[in-house]
Parts: sequence; structure tokens; C-alpha cells
Amino acid sequence: MYRTHSNGELRIENVGQTVTLAGWVQKSRDKGFMIWVDLRDRYGITQLIFDEERTPKEMVNRAKTLGREFVIQVKGEVIERVSKNSNMPTGDVEILVKELTILNKSIVPPFTIEDQTDGGDELRMKYRYLDIRRNPVKNNLMFRHKVAMETRKYLSDEGFIEVETPYLIKSTPEGARDFVVPSRMNEGQFYALPQSPQTFKQLLMVGGMDKYFQIVKCFRDEDLRADRQPEFTQIDCEMAFVEQEDILNTFEGLTRHLLKEVNGVEVDKFPRMSFDEAMRRYGNDKPDIRFGMEFGELNEVAKHKDFGVFNNAELVVGIAVPEANSYTRKEIDKLIDWVKRPQVGALGMVYVRCNEDGTYKSSVDKFYDQNDLANWATITGAKPGDLICLLSGETDKVRAQLSALRMEMATRLGLRKSNVFAPLWVVDFPLLEWDEETKRYHAMHHPFTSPKPQDIALLDTDPGKVRANAYDLVLNGNEIGGGSIRIHDKATQALMFNHLGFTPEKAKEQFGFLMNAFEFGAPPHGGIAFGLDRLVAILGGQETIRDFIAFPKNNSGRDVMIDAPSAIDDEQLKELNLKIDL
Ligand code: ASP
Repeated sequence: MYRTHSNGELRIENVGQTVTLAGWVQKSRDKGFMIWVDLRDRYGITQLIFDEERTPKEMVNRAKTLGREFVIQVKGEVIERVSKNSNMPTGDVEILVKELTILNKSIVPPFTIEDQTDGGDELRMKYRYLDIRRNPVKNNLMFRHKVAMETRKYLSDEGFIEVETPYLIKSTPEGARDFVVPSRMNEGQFYALPQSPQTFKQLLMVGGMDKYFQIVKCFRDEDLRADRQPEFTQIDCEMAFVEQEDILNTFEGLTRHLLKEVNGVEVDKFPRMSFDEAMRRYGNDKPDIRFGMEFGELNEVAKHKDFGVFNNAELVVGIAVPEANSYTRKEIDKLIDWVKRPQVGALGMVYVRCNEDGTYKSSVDKFYDQNDLANWATITGAKPGDLICLLSGETDKVRAQLSALRMEMATRLGLRKSNVFAPLWVVDFPLLEWDEETKRYHAMHHPFTSPKPQDIALLDTDPGKVRANAYDLVLNGNEIGGGSIRIHDKATQALMFNHLGFTPEKAKEQFGFLMNAFEFGAPPHGGIAFGLDRLVAILGGQETIRDFIAFPKNNSGRDVMIDAPSAIDDEQLKELNLKIDL
């Protein structure tokens, strides 16, 4: 037997017992007559003591050869420590070693394997298996396990069945590029890795599975933005005979269950907001509602004077930043530079200081009087001591810019607290989205999303106005889930493909299997998918999803540990019919 106990287990009650432990040497201190070793495993750290008087000489000598990360096994007696360490669960005891076996040696690790490490990102990724020995990484993986287990428990209790769907499929356009896999046996043909199991889960509904879920890998060959992974995990779900209301209630239940079981937090009923309202109030379809600073639209009270910048703008909009009247002129200038950065892209910023005595001082005093400024304060909800920041321009752009400023100010003011959870549903998304580049409409969610029945007529006249039965679950300013009620009849699906620019032939070639299935009694259905990596990171109160993935890829999509992607040899290329002989 390698061990009788783990290294996180022994307490004062165990004093006097003879135990066998195994693990890694985290640290050893040789004081000549005594050697202390911190022995680590997944469960914790136990201190070992080799004492010249009480440990056999041969064992003491062996202990002197131990290096960091050696794998050892010891047998000894649990004794009470003279100087206890209350920071460690095992800090009251130590093991007086009688026998030491070196199970395996280790070369010197490239970084210290402790909570605080000297290893940089790239180095830790290259030796990820060593990084995983560290508490912060190990704990995150265990946290992820907990979220996944609670998800399975909840959905299973609600009658959902976990069904696996294939990874080698046919390409399904969902807005991103597919990763493709050449088929050796079918020359010149390729599989695609799923961007999501979307069509399969719908076919499972046609198959009568009724309630499906799967914790599943998805693959998207996108240009990598910060903290995106080319392969990521979804909690993918679908239900038959449901309306939007049923889906929202079921998955609000799941989210509430997770918050309770994982974080010990009880949340009230989730607010719901239409896409239009979210854009108007927060300039964002995934608003962070942990704090206020809601947008005030000022067209009616800002376009009546001679200030051309506002008069020529489609939208004048502002936020009241709490207690920011204390900003010096220099700090405000810096803020103006911040909104003018290309990443934000504003042309400038107008501001109003709200003085404690109820007067106002603005950067546009030449044009506006105290009465005007008081109106702006009312509309943005500004109080004495606040600073009103106003941006103007094209509606969509200016909303995005002010949203960026709102988030930045919230960060600076410490309003984005990681232990506060503010979920909400955003509903009534537009069905279609205009793409300037290709000069046509794309499905905002995906082509299988059903338009709101009352809006179908608009498809021909004003496609951009058609709303979908689509919804996102937003948590602390992140979209953690999204889904829709699906089209379940062939005619509407054909109409949709037509509006997305597919010829009937192309639609048949790509989605014939789905359209055919719809002819065999497809039930009304809908679903949702959660991004598990992001969800876990937010519940874990952290920013980066990479910290919750055992073996993540870096920002260039590389696995630096196994060095992938990599070239393959000529033989392999030939076998796959990918070798072009010149
Ligand atoms: N398949 C969709 C996605 O990956 C989610 C859904 O509509 O259920 O975003």
C-alpha cells in the first residue's frame, strides 16, 4: 500500500499513530541535526521530520539527498508539533519518519511550485503538469469539476438525458470558420469539427428525446481575441414542446442552483430586458447591472443651442459618474484621451461638474446655461459631487463608446465586485444583423432561430426590424448563455435560408438532412448553450478562462507544451491526399 492517509488529512487526534504517506517534496530544510520536509499531494501538505536521534541514520542520510519535487514515500509516527502552524489544516502535527523510500527523482523544476510562483505565463504553460501541482491551478480545476457535477445533477434531476453527438461532422455555419479534418478514406473530402452540436440536438428533438443536454467540446477557428480558446466547452441543452418562457425558467433554475451550491449565493428572480432596452440603457447587449451609471439620452435637451457637435449628432448620451467631480482638470483630460484611444474611438467628450452647492460647471458653458445643465443632471441621475460624461455621434457607435467608458469607470471605482452576482435575461434579439463587408444580412444567432410570428411579415419589407425568439443569459457583463426557439417547419426554414442568401440548391446541399427531418413530424423545440469555461471563471471570481482549463492554448492558438499545431510528414500528407506533387 502506497499510503494510509493523504497529506491533508492528519490532525492532532492522529498523534501516536503509525502512518504511511506519499507525495512530492515541496521544500526541505536541513538544520544538520534535523531535516524538515514539506510533503505535498492534491489534498495538502504534511510536515515530515527526520531527527538524528530518533530516525535511523540511513534514512537521515537518504533525506539529505532529497531535492524539490522528488516523489517519496515515508513511514513514521504522527507527533505533536512544538511550534504549530495555524495556517495549515495539518499544522498541529508532523511525522517523525522511520522509513524513507525515494519513488522517483526529479530534476530541478523550472519554477517554484508554490502558491506564489516565480514562473511566467509561457513557462508555466510549457510545464503545465507542474503548474497543476500548484494550489491556484489545482483548486480551479476542482472548482470546475464541482460546477460540471452540479450541472449534471440539476439537469438529470429535471429529466434531461446526456447524449453524445459526433465530433466529425459536416460544416454548420454559425458565424465562425470550421476546423476541418481530411478524410483518408474519402479522397478530397473533409469532416468539420462542430462549432456546436446545434443541428444534432435539434435532430434529437425530432428523435423524441425531449430533454437533452451535453457537456461538450466545440471548435471555432476564429481570429483569437484575448481570452478566447479555439476549443471550448459548452453546456448544450435542448427541449421539445416548449415556449421561450419554459426555457427561461428551466435555465434560470440551473443558474440559481449553481450560484447556491457552488457560491452559496441566493439570487432573486432574474430581471428581463429586451435587446432594445439594454442598448438604450447600457449601450450593450450584455450589460453589467452590478452598478448603475445608466445612460441618459439627451437629444431633446442638448440640441437646441448653437453647439454644432451635438446638433449634428444622431445621439447625445451621457452617464453620471459617482463622486468623480473630485477629478482634477488634468485627470479629466486624461479621461478624454482615454475615450479617444482607437480601441474606444470617441472624437471627444463633454463633461459637467456637479458641484456640492448645486451649481454646474461644464466644458460647454459657452453654449449651455445652468438650466440646461440641470436638465442633463436630472436625465442622467447626477447628484452633487458627480461628473457627467457626454458623448455624441452615430447611435450604435456612441453607445458602444459610452459603454466602454461606463465599464472603465466602474472598474476604477471598484464597482465590479467579483463576489456580487447580477444575472439577467436579455430577450427579443433582432433576427438578422447587417454585415457591411458582405453587404447582406446574417443570422444574429444562427439560421435555425425562429422569428417572432408577429414579425414574419417584416422579413420582406424591413428585415433588420424582425425580432427573434432568442435570448441571452448575462452575468456580470458577460454573455454566459444564449439560445432560441427554433424553426421546426420546412417552409419557414426554407424562407429563412432564402433571406440569408442561400439558393434552394445550396440550402439543400448543406441542410437537406435537417429539412428532411422537419418533414417527419418535428416537434416545436428550443434550447440554449452555456459557455462552461466562462461561467466557471465568473463563478470562481476570476477574469481569465485559461486559468480554469487544464491544458489551454495560448493567444496564438498554440499548445506550447505539446507544441501543436505542427507539421506532419510527407507520408501522412500523401495518405491524406494532401501532398501536392509538383
Ligand atoms: N448552438 C448555439 C450556440 O452555440 C446555442 C443554442 O442556440 O442553443 O451559440
